[in-house]
Amino acid sequence: MKTDNSSRFQQSLANPDEFTLTVELVPSRGARRTAHAKALTFAKEAVADGRLHAVSITENAGGHPALSPEVLGTEIARLGLDVIIHLSCKDKNRNQIESLLFAWDRAGLRNLLVITGDYPQRGYRGYPKPVFDLDAVQALDLVRRLNREEAGRDRRDPAIIKSVEPTSFLKGVAVSPFKYLEAELRMQYYKLHRKAAAGADYVITQVGYDARKFDELLRYMRLTGLNLPVLGNVFVPTPTVAGMMREGRIPGVALPDSIHAEMIEEFKEGDRGRKKALRRAAKLLCVQKGLGYSGAHIGGPGLTCAELEFLLTEAARMADDWPEFLESFSCWPPNSYFFRPGVDGKLNSDEPAPRGKVSRSLHYALADSSHELAFVETGLLYNTASRLCAAIDGSATQGAFAGAEHLVKLLLFGCRDCGDCTLAELGFLCPQKGCAKYLLNGPCGGSRNGWCEVFPGRKKCLYVKIHDRLKAVGRDESMTHGFVPPRDWALTETSSWINFYLRRNYTRLDK
Ligand code: SF4
Repeated sequence: MKTDNSSRFQQSLANPDEFTLTVELVPSRGARRTAHAKALTFAKEAVADGRLHAVSITENAGGHPALSPEVLGTEIARLGLDVIIHLSCKDKNRNQIESLLFAWDRAGLRNLLVITGDYPQRGYRGYPKPVFDLDAVQALDLVRRLNREEAGRDRRDPAIIKSVEPTSFLKGVAVSPFKYLEAELRMQYYKLHRKAAAGADYVITQVGYDARKFDELLRYMRLTGLNLPVLGNVFVPTPTVAGMMREGRIPGVALPDSIHAEMIEEFKEGDRGRKKALRRAAKLLCVQKGLGYSGAHIGGPGLTCAELEFLLTEAARMADDWPEFLESFSCWPPNSYFFRPGVDGKLNSDEPAPRGKVSRSLHYALADSSHELAFVETGLLYNTASRLCAAIDGSATQGAFAGAEHLVKLLLFGCRDCGDCTLAELGFLCPQKGCAKYLLNGPCGGSRNGWCEVFPGRKKCLYVKIHDRLKAVGRDESMTHGFVPPRDWALTETSSWINFYLRRNYTRLDK
């Protein structure tokens, strides 16, 4: 990992003997709200306390518009505290992301958390266009290229920028072990491989309260060679937010009954359960430290510096008692773990749990065998189809050919005519139609019980379906390899078959 002498956060992450502490701040909706002043007060007090390594600043959290993170970030950095800026893909295209990265580099804001982002919510006179031009893996690759780690590797797609200085961003990513279904969980882990390959420097987990799940993630990473520092999430909810978590109104966050019932009892107390909530957070932090996490990422609405101080002091006092706390963080369904339980059942063994059965899809089988025939170089029809497409390209029949292709693919796959077809990568399911965020490299963190974040109870997450199709033929782990480059919008409404044979589509790019 690169370290920057000016960044205490980077130095701490690079030091295996140090436990990194970060706190998440959410910018206010408006530039002069008291929440903004409170965030600055928090930062000032945190600098004086000295235990915190950085604050992370969300970007339009929950999909709602808020003050741009670099504004609060710059003010906090001036106070002497490191800042992690969330870079999400929901509201901006690749050029706007690049432009922002230049601005953040100029402002000295070089620690990032690169995420897909929550689906945009209602804004000015209605719902906005969900952009998602890049997914988190592609955005990481963009930042990596700006950092010039791999400049010039692909001659067909010359380095994005030739005329500017290389940047030195540190790139964090998110992952959630807190999924109920095998398909959701595996796809989270598979995508983490792609994020690592695309240049992730560190990982932050989703919010959760289950010790075996926290153990599972570290164990999975160790056993599969994903060697990145991980910060465990420690979240202190208010009664309102706990209710929202329970109802699944915070994307990707699940709060099981047992822990929610405990919280409800605590909220009845004089301080609305604040002390007990902070003590639970301190215990969770002890568990994470005991398990071998590199640090903790602490969050919660309205968390004050005095509360943080209490939490950290309690955690320091109880640090050695962490094995005793494991039982109090045991709330996940037993059949939702990646591994079989360990000897005492509190943590995991190294042995993967048996996988569920899935049936083969006839649609997949037919599509795959046709693909093998015509789109794989050894296929019987490959050369003929390739010559035919080369002859049609630029001829008077090109438009009719593209129209006929679209009609066939519309009937078979619900094709949206992007011209940069990725069906073969994704179990012959179309992300332009089936994923609300058009993701090409794995799921966002927002699915719940297999349902899409955007259509809960109505539409399955596309990546749950892709997982099951690929698993049925033993190919699901292909989702850990390489990555799918972003859609080329210049190809919209052109023939994806011609684009494939003439190497105009994403297959021309290195992965
Ligand atoms: S389909 Fe899955 S990956 Fe796509 S937006 Fe919905 S939950 Fe996220």
